[in-house]
Amino acid sequence: MTIRPRLTVIGTGYLGATHAICMAVMGFEVLGVDVDASKIEKLSAGAVPFFEPGLPELLTKALESGRLRFSTDFQEAAAFGDVHFICVGTPQAAGSEAADLRYVDSAVTTLARHLTRRALVVGKSTVPVGTAARLAGLLRELAPAGDAVELAWNPEFLREGFAVDDTMKPDRMVFGVTSDWAEQQLRTAFEPVLAQGVPVKVTDLQTAELVKVAANSFLATKISYINAMAEICEATGADVHDLAEALAYDERIGGRFLRPGLGFGGGCLPKDIRAFAHRAEELGVGQAVGFLREIDGINRRRRARTVDLVVELCGGDVAGKRIAALGAAFKPNSDDIRDAPALDVAATLHRMGADVVVYDPAAMDNARRVHPELCYATNALDAARDADVVVLLTEWNEFREIEPSAMAAVVRRAKIVDGRHALVPASWRAAGWEYRALGRPIVP
Ligand code: NAD
Repeated sequence: MTIRPRLTVIGTGYLGATHAICMAVMGFEVLGVDVDASKIEKLSAGAVPFFEPGLPELLTKALESGRLRFSTDFQEAAAFGDVHFICVGTPQAAGSEAADLRYVDSAVTTLARHLTRRALVVGKSTVPVGTAARLAGLLRELAPAGDAVELAWNPEFLREGFAVDDTMKPDRMVFGVTSDWAEQQLRTAFEPVLAQGVPVKVTDLQTAELVKVAANSFLATKISYINAMAEICEATGADVHDLAEALAYDERIGGRFLRPGLGFGGGCLPKDIRAFAHRAEELGVGQAVGFLREIDGINRRRRARTVDLVVELCGGDVAGKRIAALGAAFKPNSDDIRDAPALDVAATLHRMGADVVVYDPAAMDNARRVHPELCYATNALDAARDADVVVLLTEWNEFREIEPSAMAAVVRRAKIVDGRHALVPASWRAAGWEYRALGRPIVP
């Protein structure tokens, strides 16, 4: 029987906490490490500091098993772990499109100084191509164990809202390695995942780094593609919803990520495509992915157009008008508000003088912290009370289930902008609503 390596997970945010918890549930001894002591305290006490379906139950299970602990101590981590997963954030740098690699550099540097025996450091964070090779050099230079410490890259593809399933049974795994030993270590560390038949692609470090940004760029392109078609539909009176459905029958195209609407946001897609375009320029091949700037531009225009549509429904000026904003999270089943289109639209309408009342099933605390200037309601109907326009910004199922006549009874004017093409227009119109969605014709 193979001896299972002991794992550390450095950075216990959305990705790291999920990874640490799932690996412990799958039978590994895991130590989660973060510089944020309050996060470590919460996790140690059994509380997941963010919204992720299924994860709180698994955290309880993992803590009860005795296989999962959390700490802020890197020395303890180095002494404990055989395989160290780097899961810290790589946000967009302030004033630049580049990725901010401070957290990755700091995590690797701090850990390296304590590595006195053979170990594998595995990057999972999304980084610009070439970062792994640089970090491998740092490790060799700083780790007391020198060459006995190796680096591998194992990009992460989990989706918030589906993070547990995506971690336990991903579509595929990518192992970027420079030695057979590193590959073997990864195969052992992911043995319970691979045993389910999950395909694994073994590559060099730079290909592994690229798989992640290439995948996100493709997904962003698909979303912006259909939103570009929405712009054409708006100019011609065509219906982008019908267009998307007709396209989706073609198996070569497929319907996933082909939903028109307010566009993408969150802590990954926007910053990843910008960092990729920036990195390509540094490498002298900026032209190859120059189209990503267009993709970003189309995406940003959706937010502006959604604001325009609300203004139009308010008769040309939102000042003093009451707007109900349904949704704050960047997508449903998440409380993540990083670069959230919903809050962007809500905050813009507020700046234009509207009285904006927000409701989101999970992201209220996060939204309140970042946008204290907005008003918040305790449910969708409360948010809609006396509203001049209701605007659906995040497609939570809860909003799909709203009874149009019940909401019509509480608003001042029955006008709705469906920013996510999530509602059935006929049902809303039948209940007396003026229903509008970008890229769909106006029905008088
Ligand atoms: P996050 O902000 O939720 O978590 C990052 C964590 O790292 C924080 O808890 C922070 O305190 C911690 N940290 C920062 N510096 C540290 C250090 N020096 N040592 C230890 N901990 C440190 O970010 P996230 O969403 O979990 O993303 C992490 C990485 O994973 C990013 O590169 C992201 O692009 C990538 N990723 C995220 C997702 C996702 O859905 N969130 C999916 C795939 C990949």
